[in-house]
Amino acid sequence: MLARPGQIFLKNLELSGIVKVKPNVGGPRISRVALDTPLRSLFDYLTIPGAEPGRLVSVEFGHRQMVGVVVELAQESEHPAESLKPVLAVFDTLPPLSPEWLALCKFAGHYYMRGPGEVMLPALPSKLRVTKGWERLAKAMAKPLLEKKPHAAKKAAAKTPARKTAAVAPVDPAVMEAAPAGGLPADALPTDALLADAPAEDVLRTEAPRLLPGQRAAAAALAEAAQRGGFAPFLLYGVTGSGKTEVYLDLVARILATPPTGLDAPASQVLLLVPEINLTPQLEAGLRGRFASTPIAVMHSGLAEGERTRNWLAAHLGQARIVVGTRLAVLASLPGLRAIIVDEEHDPSYKQQEGLRYSARDLAVWRARELGIPVVLGSATPSLESWARSETHYTRLELAERAQPEARLPAVKLIDKEAERKNGRASADGISQPLREAIAERLRRGEQSLLYLNRRGYAPVLNCDACGWLSNCTRCSAHLVMHRQGGANRLRCHHCGLEARVPQRCPDCGNADLAPLGRGTQRVEEMLAELFPQARVARIDADATRLKGSAQALFDEVHAGKVDILIGTQMIAKGHDFQHVTLVGILNPDTALVSQDYRASERLFALLMQVAGRAGRAGMPGEVLVQTRYPRSPVYQALRSHDYPGHARSLLDERRSAGLPPFSFQALLTVEARDLAGCMAFLRVAREAAETLEDCAEGWVVLFDPVPRAMVRVANRDRAQLLVESGSRAALQRMLDAWMPLMQEIRPRVSWQIERDPASV
Ligand code: ADP
Ligand code: ZN
Ligand code: ZN
Repeated sequence: MLARPGQIFLKNLELSGIVKVKPNVGGPRISRVALDTPLRSLFDYLTIPGAEPGRLVSVEFGHRQMVGVVVELAQESEHPAESLKPVLAVFDTLPPLSPEWLALCKFAGHYYMRGPGEVMLPALPSKLRVTKGWERLAKAMAKPLLEKKPHAAKKAAAKTPARKTAAVAPVDPAVMEAAPAGGLPADALPTDALLADAPAEDVLRTEAPRLLPGQRAAAAALAEAAQRGGFAPFLLYGVTGSGKTEVYLDLVARILATPPTGLDAPASQVLLLVPEINLTPQLEAGLRGRFASTPIAVMHSGLAEGERTRNWLAAHLGQARIVVGTRLAVLASLPGLRAIIVDEEHDPSYKQQEGLRYSARDLAVWRARELGIPVVLGSATPSLESWARSETHYTRLELAERAQPEARLPAVKLIDKEAERKNGRASADGISQPLREAIAERLRRGEQSLLYLNRRGYAPVLNCDACGWLSNCTRCSAHLVMHRQGGANRLRCHHCGLEARVPQRCPDCGNADLAPLGRGTQRVEEMLAELFPQARVARIDADATRLKGSAQALFDEVHAGKVDILIGTQMIAKGHDFQHVTLVGILNPDTALVSQDYRASERLFALLMQVAGRAGRAGMPGEVLVQTRYPRSPVYQALRSHDYPGHARSLLDERRSAGLPPFSFQALLTVEARDLAGCMAFLRVAREAAETLEDCAEGWVVLFDPVPRAMVRVANRDRAQLLVESGSRAALQRMLDAWMPLMQEIRPRVSWQIERDPASV
């Protein structure tokens, strides 16, 4: 009776060959299934043959059919057998997800306070999550998924900026047979034991440059760890332009050359994470150039669904040997995973800010530990967490100098805006006289300038001079930003998306003279065009790159030297290897200095070091000009002396004496409701409930007072938060586990979330 609709469905699948139905005699009777529902548990179903751990199954949940993942088998259920429904179908042409992957997702669910299914299912491409697609997928899997596309590889190699191809020579396959895997210069290899099993398919396109002594030492340490086996966490601290990528590629080459551990063992795989989609093409091109015929799969949220599915399957089936992706790739199924590399590990983009609020960097380290493999966290400005750990239990590797001959770290000059104003040199347009002269000088020399401003749009707000009216969003505690769109002006909220026309007159006093206040990237772009009519100006920010592929096209133009002045937001700050930029101007960095968030100054420093790092990467000397009102601030002083370690030490001292992370662990309870009073009432009850818990009563876990969030209202919803802190991660976990069920009881309900290791408080 219960299984009726399912039986019909099963029949269909049986006909299609996807599932074979046999009565299940003896053996476990229950399949425990993870489903994508907010209930934090597994669901029991009567098992059918094949419904084993790691398998995708279809089940009835409520009155819907859902795809789930079998996590474990059991003999008995807590529920009476009559109330259980059977598993409807098994996708048994798909090899099961590994115990390692299941464990990773279970851990992530527990740690980030979600159900296992809320981690597992969203980590799968959506085509696997509907049964009607299984048949076609089964067919697709019969063929190699990542066909060797020489054309695509060539295109990627051609896209590689000139420097990477400088060492390119057409490679004679016959010569390559004899060459070391990955084309490592023979002297870079500490032993030749690794060479014996070099996969013959690894035909090289670009040769590796001869590694510099620092790179060689770092690469040797990684190679040694990879060969030895076991968990080995590394922090690769290398100044901007020091050639961290080559160190990664060297490790990749060695892993690819490592033979599988047993007869049936999957081929070895490497996972490389980058913080942003627009950094994947640069790394992908480098990899395709170096490992021409090695199947590489890219994973990020910008892929079309078909491609995402194909790449995911290629990784899961072990066909893809290298996976390059953004944070979501850390949850990929990789049966042969032998090393993980996290580039720009400090980057806040590794933290997912909605749904499952995970840190891909932290999960990468956890995964590496469970697997017993090396993990490399690379950065010129490591997170304070990683830096502190590299003084205790990570191995720190250093690249102290820039890789290219003659490339030096740029000279940083602070332009005191206050002094400029007093001397009557203030500029009405926000580009100071010294910066203007420096740009003009670059134009004369045919070099590129890069201006960084972390504000998109034309102006951050529209203002009435007569009565003080500001263009505020009616739904958020934020200003509407003025944007210029095809000659017309629009007002737009960056938080809720509200759009409005620019009013003719002030809504409050009728004044017809409304003026934009402040400057965004669009306005600076316009000013630059006026100041330097002969220059080719380009803007890169989220608005200019909305169309798929347009960001890459813009970056290509910069690399090709078709741009003289580049203005942009943090999109241009990170990771890009601009070869012709010799001047970096930082327009308005001060706002983060006055933030209440204790992480703001760490982030500002990292970002400024990264932007500054875009200057002078090839032989030509670089210069960085910072326009600030607080030139004496320690952040700018440290920037001037390129002193990351010194600055990190003083920030860590501050954190230690304040008992802040990484010297404590935090969780943030955030709530959202129609009004603030509702939020605060919920938090007060939640806090009272927590006070009764042992860890809080005994002082292991400290509860802060509920407070409204810094930005209270977003999209007509008010928000408040409560911070929880502990010196012990275990105590915090225990307390949160006990607290969750208490909060589920609180009425009236509001929507709430717990964020572990919050990025901003
Ligand atoms: P990072 O990621 O550390 O900022 P990159 O990996 O982008 O630096 O390297 C900076 C530049 O130095 C690149 O143009 C790269 O091709 C070049 N480079 C790296 N290693 C070497 C080397 N051993 N010899 C010559 N050039 C190198
Ligand atoms: Zn007015
Ligand atoms: Zn809004």
